[in-house]
Amino acid sequence: MKVRQHTFWHIDYLLDNDSVEVEQAFYKVADKSAECKIAEKLKKKSVPVVNFGCSDCTCGSHLFKISHYNFLRDFMSEIQLGN
Ligand SMILES: [Zn+2]
Repeated sequence: MKVRQHTFWHIDYLLDNDSVEVEQAFYKVADKSAECKIAEKLKKKSVPVVNFGCSDCTCGSHLFKISHYNFLRDFMSEIQLGN
């Protein structure tokens, strides 16, 4: 297990776990409300990791397990995320 000097963001905890491998990252420059709107859409099509990444809002999660890459690719295109 890799341990970084400072574990601050939720992503730090994921990256420190040897069973986690980042395959691709998507991003969008937007305000905080956009993040919550995306989470709201994703929770309908995925399995949320409860209380992950949402300590500063009322969402149930900002991390989701998505099994179908095609859904993810189409969703990212729909909401205009870059990669
Ligand atoms: Zn939120």
